[in-house]
Amino acid sequence: MSKTTIGLIGLGTMGAALASNIAEKGYPIAVWNRTGSVTTAFHAESGALADSIVPTQSLQEFVDAIETPRAIILMVPAGDPVDQQIAALRPLLGPDDLIIDAGNANFRDTSRRAAEAGDLPFLGIGVSGGEEGARFGPSIMGGGKREYWDRVSHILNAISAKYQDTPCATWMGEEGAGHFVKAVHNGIEYADMQMIAEVYAVMRDGLGQDAATIGKTFEGWNEGPLQSYLIEISGKVAQATDPDTGAPMLDIIEDAAGQKGTGRWTAIEAQHLAAPIPAIEAAVMARNLSSRLAERAAGEALFGTAPTAISDLPMETLESAMIAGKILCYAQGFAMIEAASEQFGWSLPLPDIAKVWREGCIIRSAMLNDMAQALAENPGRNLMVAPAFADLLKAHHGALRQVVALGATHGIAMPALASGLAYFDTMRTARGSANMIQGQRDFFGAHGFKRIDGHPGTHGPWAM
Ligand code: NDP
Repeated sequence: MSKTTIGLIGLGTMGAALASNIAEKGYPIAVWNRTGSVTTAFHAESGALADSIVPTQSLQEFVDAIETPRAIILMVPAGDPVDQQIAALRPLLGPDDLIIDAGNANFRDTSRRAAEAGDLPFLGIGVSGGEEGARFGPSIMGGGKREYWDRVSHILNAISAKYQDTPCATWMGEEGAGHFVKAVHNGIEYADMQMIAEVYAVMRDGLGQDAATIGKTFEGWNEGPLQSYLIEISGKVAQATDPDTGAPMLDIIEDAAGQKGTGRWTAIEAQHLAAPIPAIEAAVMARNLSSRLAERAAGEALFGTAPTAISDLPMETLESAMIAGKILCYAQGFAMIEAASEQFGWSLPLPDIAKVWREGCIIRSAMLNDMAQALAENPGRNLMVAPAFADLLKAHHGALRQVVALGATHGIAMPALASGLAYFDTMRTARGSANMIQGQRDFFGAHGFKRIDGHPGTHGPWAM
């Protein structure tokens, strides 16, 4: 075969799917994997795509198989493996060859790697959609120099998901901008998943519904304003039965949530940026707490079970609460992106970010199209005050309040929904209570405050 258009390193879950996707779109691809037998097996199982895939067993053979200037995708675990792979690859490459880290890197690592690369081409792209997305069309968030993106954008556009023919692949900005946007995507994903889990708890523990009934409700919601991949799969998860025992699958899954750290990165970064994302932070916290199984069991033995049974709650009210919660969660995510854009000088394109999430990624949902429009029409403003979403919040925040109140009185924890509501109430209160904080700070630390009555002075009468 003549030389391939592109190369890919790391034939794990994502790399194998992405390589097949690239080959299928008509771009011959060279592949290499640390464990050589994986490469051999991947090629042997690639069926009709085998002619477009060149399996290689050494990095030199891999590099030699790709046309110059080369473009090479890394799909290995984030962190040291990426640095190790770059270090092994660079000496074999020419000065125009492009390395693309497509794993879930921390955006700060991507910015560092871009700086270390100097004039050597490097991109960091966030790829969302899991294995199925990678195979049939992911959402792609690019970061690095625009000229490098432009070199490979035709391939990334071709392999990406399409929203009504528009590719879900967008250059976000310089340095780690793509991986930053991917991290916030994952943060929103955490919060959206947590909110769904919380209304599931209301249905299961509050209303005593079985998993199949709950699944049907999610299935119904997927036909309305909440239409989204996460609601869709929640319906499927809740309705599935274990083939071995016939039991509802959901009922036999341990309630300890795993995580790979991207939600935590988002929460940590939000603190650095002083960007409030309470629903996302609450979702990360909830995953951390969920893993404390023994402590929770001991807590239940000590305090007794909460009075969870709720006598009556229409499903429409729960759906309405979810609509409000979801808008508030996305509003927080977009506000964080806006804050990072200013802090890092990236000019992140908020409407385009909403557009790139419309298909292919885990948080794809019907609402994102309207969000893209609202963000375009209201630049620099929080999504929750954009007229279309302000109207939705006016219509639905009462239900959110009702559901959170029921959670509080019935002992059903709902950290993400409650945090979303607290965010809403804070953001719609012109005079809050931080004057008390300022008074306290001045009392114990003489930190001073600003008066609102026009009188001179910045300290209270307690100052010594
Ligand atoms: P897998 O564990 O399935 O595969 C990892 C791949 O990286 C394997 O090919 C492995 O090779 C290789 N590898 C591991 N360590 C090294 C190393 N030190 N040097 C070179 N190669 C190495 O991971 P995934 O495919 O799931 O994930 C890959 C990247 O994609 C990660 O950054 C992940 O966070 C990201 N991602 C994953 C998603 C998912 O849904 N799984 C979604 C979006 C992004 P070997 O066969 O030799 O072990």
